[in-house]
Amino acid sequence: MFEKSICKSETDSKSDPELLNIRAHHLCCIQGFQGYGYSPAFVANMRAVISDLEAFPSRPLKLVTVCDAICVSCPSKRECTVQESVLSQKIRKMDLIVLDILKLDAGTVLNADEAFKLINSKLNKASDVEEVCGTCKWRQKCLWYVQAGKQEG
Ligand code: SF4
Ligand code: SF4
Repeated sequence: MFEKSICKSETDSKSDPELLNIRAHHLCCIQGFQGYGYSPAFVANMRAVISDLEAFPSRPLKLVTVCDAICVSCPSKRECTVQESVLSQKIRKMDLIVLDILKLDAGTVLNADEAFKLINSKLNKASDVEEVCGTCKWRQKCLWYVQAGKQEG
């Protein structure tokens, strides 16, 4: 079982135990994951999140711009959680760009299969993909980036 997010603010989801907090840009990362990551614990948790979503495609996701179910096992979690850090601001900007493209507010809840369909239909121009992923060090190992980045923009 993957680790649930333990971060506060917009990630709080006391009412629905099925609800999974997912950073908006992680909708792309999840689809591009090929087994690479920041640490063995990160990779194991990412695999568990993906397996869960494959088994339960209608799982409700709350789209957030803070620490989520994937971040909980990341070695950069502490740095990403500090709102003033350069890394946290850079990553949050990725989430905000995705939410802007999807025309959704942070905290929106939708089912995982709908969320993936929506992002793949709205975020498919090379220029938009570059805006979200341009500074990510995993780009060349990310299936989603490699495929989405081929679209015209
Ligand atoms: S390139 Fe990086 S930020 Fe973009 S979807 Fe892939 S892993 Fe996520
Ligand atoms: S780098 Fe930051 S946003 Fe990305 S998984 Fe790690 S903690 Fe989460």
